Formats: sequence, structure tokens, C-alpha cells
Amino acid sequence: MHTLHVELGERSYPIYIGRDLLTDSELLCQHLPGSQLVIVSNETIAPLYLDRLRAALGPRELVTEVILADGEQYKTMATLNEILDRVMSDRHNRSTTLLALGGGVVGDITGFAAACYQRGVNYVQVPTTLLSQVDSSVGGKTAVNHPQGKNMIGAFHQPRAVFIDINTLQSLPAREFAAGLAEVIKYGLICDAPFYRWLQAHMPKLLAREEAALAEAIERSCACKAEVVAADEREGGLRAILNLGHTFGHAIETAQGYGSWLHGEAVATGMLLAMEMSARRGWIAREEVADFRQLLQTVQLPVAPPADMTADQFLDLMGRDKKVLDGTLRLILLRDIGEAAIVADASEAELTTLLEDALQ
Ligand code: NAD
Ligand code: MG
Repeated sequence: MHTLHVELGERSYPIYIGRDLLTDSELLCQHLPGSQLVIVSNETIAPLYLDRLRAALGPRELVTEVILADGEQYKTMATLNEILDRVMSDRHNRSTTLLALGGGVVGDITGFAAACYQRGVNYVQVPTTLLSQVDSSVGGKTAVNHPQGKNMIGAFHQPRAVFIDINTLQSLPAREFAAGLAEVIKYGLICDAPFYRWLQAHMPKLLAREEAALAEAIERSCACKAEVVAADEREGGLRAILNLGHTFGHAIETAQGYGSWLHGEAVATGMLLAMEMSARRGWIAREEVADFRQLLQTVQLPVAPPADMTADQFLDLMGRDKKVLDGTLRLILLRDIGEAAIVADASEAELTTLLEDALQ
């Protein structure tokens, strides 16, 4: 087992990465000392993992299980209320702990419920998708969606501990796994060139979901995100580099309607666009772009934006992105592999040419 620490002063917390953590009674109970517990999961994950986890947690005075419907469309205030109603009617007090067992949707909503209940109670995460293990479980952003925008209602609330059981990835659908790999690759690109090279060399092992490779990739991804978050907990500046490929990606997600492209798929294509743009500025070599495209293809991630999109539509949707500050479009590009740059000087002409070429 590997342990990583997210350094945030009194809000610091450990991330454990290893096999069979779900049934590691001693480790789990060390971080769940109270007698009250609320386990939140969903109808897909609960049948696979809840019984085992529950057994490992041992007998407690009060355990409430909330099993949500599965899907991003349920990441709403209504579902948040459903959780809070259960917690209230079972009379949990301020010493209770909320435990999220599931992907990013369950994690985000459970974290937000924990942030709200009695102005904040403890929560821990057992993330079960690759994306939630390397991304949403690190950093303390919690939220639900509003009909007018994704993740618009939320809070910063750090978990007490994160337990990443790599065995849970064995049951993850291939497309979800690939989408998570897009974010893994992102970390190599923005802050860890040796990790990126390692990923290029070890992708077949990762795709075969070999334990040692998975543990290594998850640990280095979490380390990268933890480092960025520790330097900028509330997204004052540096944290923006985590959005490599995301501004282009959000345009794709919005144009296609959320859900048709997975987030990681849109980010993959977005990162390719950001890389192409970086190469055109002379910051990275052309061969890097070709190699990156090859890597995405190996993972079966999309390498071209939807053919029915236009450059104009992209620009329009990117202009409405929430990362647009002071009317200037900020983009994350690469100065080099492993070195992200926040740029605000992209001209409409530069973007139009880039997008028109990509859409040909
Ligand atoms: P998800 O939670 O919807 O999970 C994807 C699918 O996989 C679901 O159908 C889920 O039930 C299923 N699943 C999960 N684990 C499984 C397993 N082990 N075996 C089989 N099936 C499994 O999606 P996600 O990609 O994990 O997370 C996306 C969400 O995370 C979005 O709502 C996004 O906004 C949020 N997010 C938050 C942050 C953050 O910093 N808080 C960062 C990135 C993403
Ligand atoms: Mg993302």
C-alpha cells in the first residue's frame, strides 16, 4: 500500500492506494472512529462492493445507507435533499461521518452533503472510478449541478481520508476507464515529464489493468494534483493548469449535449488541440503531437472534434466557459512536456485557424 498526504494545514489528509483496501478493517476504522456512519453509494456500485465494505467497518451504533440512482442527471439538489432527509430522520449528530462509495458523482454530492449537514461534518471517500481516484477525490471541491450549469452549487470541503482500492477498477466499463486515463495523461503533460514518458511506455500494462501499473499511475497522478491543490487550494491561479484541454473539451461537451461524449473523451481531444497550438507556437516539437495522438488512439480516446462542429461554434462556446476571466480567454498550453503555461494572448485568428484545420 502507498500513502500520500495532501498538505493543507489543519485540513491535510491521507490518500491510501492499494489492493483490497475496501476490506481493510484496521485501516478503515482508524479513520472512522465514531459510532455513527452514513454510507452513500449508487444502484450500480452498491451491489458490487457495499456488503464487503460494510462488513469491514464492523458493528456500529447507527449506520444509514443511502443508495442513489446512477447518473450525472441525479447530481442535483433533489438528490442532496434525499441524502439530508435520511441523515436527519435517522438523527445523526455532528460526530457522524459520511462515506462516499462510488465515482465522482457520488463523491461530489456526498462531500457537499457533508459540507452542509450541521455546517459541516466529516467525510471520507472510497472512489471507484479511475477518474474519481485521480481527480475528484483530491482537492475538496464538492458540488451538485443546477439546471443552468454544471457544479454551480457547491463548497470546498476536504475529506478526512481517501481509500483508493485499485481492485474496484476491474469492474469499471472500458469506456469509463479510458476516460479516466485521459486525466492521468494530463498530469504527465502539465507537471511531470518523466511520468508522461512512463505512461507512453506502460500504456499496454495499464490497459490490461495490471495492478502494479495502476497503483503507480494513480499515485503519481494524485501526487501531481495534490501538489497543485496544496499550492492553490481555492483556484486563485495555479490550479487552472489542471484545466489543460478542458476549455476546448467543455465546448465539445456542451455542443454535443452532456453525456454523449464522456468528460475524459472531450478533454483528450481538447488536450490534442492545446498541444497542436503549443507546437504551432514553437513550444513543443511536432513529433510530440504525433506521439500524443498515437497514445490517445492506443487508449481508444477520440482524436478529432465532432465533425459537425464549426470553428465559430467552438469560439462561441469557449467564450462562455467559466474559466474566462476579465473578458480574456485563458487557455492552458504546454511550454514543454511537463510544463503547463496559462496564456491569455490567444487571438481569435490563431484559434480560428487551429480549429478549422482540426475540423477538416
Ligand atoms: P460517475 O460517478 O458517473 O461514474 C461513472 C459510471 O461508472 C457510473 O455509471 C458509475 O455507477 C459506474 N461505476 C463507478 N465505479 C464503478 C466500478 N468500480 N465498477 C463498475 N461501474 C462503476 O463518473 P466519474 O467519471 O467517476 O465522475 C464524474 C463526476 O465527477 C462529474 O460529476 C464531475 O463533475 C465530477 N468531478 C469532480 C471533480 C472534483 O474536483 N470534485 C473533479 C473531476 C470530476
Ligand atoms: Mg476534468
